[in-house]
Amino acid sequence: MSNGVSDCIFCKIVAGEIPCKKVYESDTVLAFEDINPIAPVHVLVIPKRHVVQADECTEADRELLGDMMLAAGEVARIKGITESGYRLVVNNGQEGGQVVHHMHLHVLGGRQMRGMG
Ligand code: 5GP
Ligand code: ZN
Repeated sequence: MSNGVSDCIFCKIVAGEIPCKKVYESDTVLAFEDINPIAPVHVLVIPKRHVVQADECTEADRELLGDMMLAAGEVARIKGITESGYRLVVNNGQEGGQVVHHMHLHVLGGRQMRGMG
């Protein structure tokens, strides 16, 4: 693999080695359906480049972080939840509940969100 980490599941999805249900794609990000959705709409937005976690980002990633937020808005429009509202979640590190160590943004919608976990 040329641009990722060999055992990273999300890098394998970017490379097309593991299938996904793609929702949106740009040069820098990919959005796809979460395999274990916790809401009627549950889409993950990931950078195509391997970034372990949000906290690892630097000034150099400013545009990439913006791309992810803008992609989340596109996903919401595609899924028809712009008007009803939705939640964006980034889990960072162990106590943040991050399980996959390739940064990702959860787009959650289609039901009322409650609590903050
Ligand atoms: P985290 O807890 O790291 O923020 O969330 C990881 C998310 O990735 C979980 O919601 C989980 O369901 C999802 N996930 C893990 N493996 C796969 C996969 O192979 N394909 C897809 N589409 N989602 C995955
Ligand atoms: Zn990766």
